[in-house]
Amino acid sequence: MINFDAVIVGGGVIGSCISYYLTKVGLKVALVEKKDIASGTSSSCDGNILISDKKPGFDTDLAAISQNLHKELDQKLDYEFDYTQKGSLYLIESNKEWSVAKQYVKEQTANGYSMRMLDYDQVHNDEPLLADDIIGGVETETDSAVYPMAFVYSLIDQACKNGLKLYNYNSVVDVKLGTKGQVESVLLLGGEKIKTDNVINAAGVWAPEIGDMVGIDIPIRPRQGQILVAEKTKQVGRRKIVEFGYMMAKFGGKNYKRNINPVLEKHGIAFVYEPTAADNFLIGSSRQFVGFNTKTSIEVIKGLAARAIRFFPSMKDINVIRSYAGLRPYVDDHFPIVSSVKSVPGFYIAAGHEGDGIGLAPVTGKLVEYLLTDKKLDIPLDLDYAIQRLSFNRFS
Ligand SMILES: Cc1cc2nc3c(=O)[nH]c(=O)nc-3n(C[C@H](O)[C@H](O)[C@H](O)COP(=O)(O)OP(=O)(O)OC[C@H]3O[C@@H](n4cnc5c(N)ncnc54)[C@H](O)[C@@H]3O)c2cc1C
Repeated sequence: MINFDAVIVGGGVIGSCISYYLTKVGLKVALVEKKDIASGTSSSCDGNILISDKKPGFDTDLAAISQNLHKELDQKLDYEFDYTQKGSLYLIESNKEWSVAKQYVKEQTANGYSMRMLDYDQVHNDEPLLADDIIGGVETETDSAVYPMAFVYSLIDQACKNGLKLYNYNSVVDVKLGTKGQVESVLLLGGEKIKTDNVINAAGVWAPEIGDMVGIDIPIRPRQGQILVAEKTKQVGRRKIVEFGYMMAKFGGKNYKRNINPVLEKHGIAFVYEPTAADNFLIGSSRQFVGFNTKTSIEVIKGLAARAIRFFPSMKDINVIRSYAGLRPYVDDHFPIVSSVKSVPGFYIAAGHEGDGIGLAPVTGKLVEYLLTDKKLDIPLDLDYAIQRLSFNRFS
């Protein structure tokens, strides 16, 4: 029986980043993926790496560290993944939003982050095709983007060069425990047993199934998001553009209601625009709890299109060529679980990144490296605080 230092379950962006960082420090690692790598949520999403949709404090600090790690990975990895850092623009529709945004920018800049308010003229000079009634914006300089599938392939490419053993098109069907309840091995679908002292559950929305194998209840739920893909076209916007109300859709803000119709409200639709390297663009997104359903629906597609045209009227003349839906791994408090599990020594969880998994994958990989090796990391983070904040214990 082969013996590994760690077995990672799930070859999405999270499992891939963990594979990269663990093999980089010399651990002998296997990755098991049910289908092909990047076949789950990590290929049905956008590729934004944002601090501008994070709450001030730890949420932003974590995302900013990950932004820097993305930049570093762009320099280090061989396989190209369309990394760009053009900044982002949040669009403000009303005076009420302006005052919320102003307070937000004040807090973020006081913490050292590069954000600024754009007035009417500035925002319209920045994006000339914007609807006339948009009153301003928030620009965040460090926001960046990648092509998520290529990013996953790039990480796996390097991890394999570092010695990763990849078991794709094979599932983990059981995690075997020893007499003291500790991890001893994993059982694969074909009957193969892999010996290991450490299992890392990076199975995204399927993480609860892997938790069941060791008798723990992981509180992650699928939150569906739908996206439209436009045809190749003239430039509409030059970089990532989001309506400020996106934050309300993401966090379910109770004190502030956007001026939108009940259909948009019901499907959690907020305008997100992402230009791609192929000269087309993506339009998102919706947020709904509909189980494991990954079908798009005409009502949501229409809602997404209407919301996009509200901000960029010229989009009404551009065709949509396809749509898709993905499942965000949702946790109630909006933080991922990156943690050991006290009751099952050797079992770790790295899942529950909701709409931030692409952005937070590198810092997650680094934190798992810390959990397994206990060696100080070269990132400016209070590790003890981070580990406690993201721990599985917080639910007990
Ligand atoms: C519409 C939409 C837009 C998004 N936009 C962004 C964005 O702009 N920026 C951002 O940062 N994030 C975004 N996200 C969120 C991001 O896509 C996710 O947080 C991230 O992809 C989750 O990655 P993961 O590796 O945890 O899960 P996944 O990519 O789903 O990987 C989990 C893997 O585990 C495998 N698996 C499951 N069970 C087993 C088993 N028993 N054995 C072996 N393998 C198994 C699955 O096949 C799957 O490949 C978006 C999501 C959606 C839906």
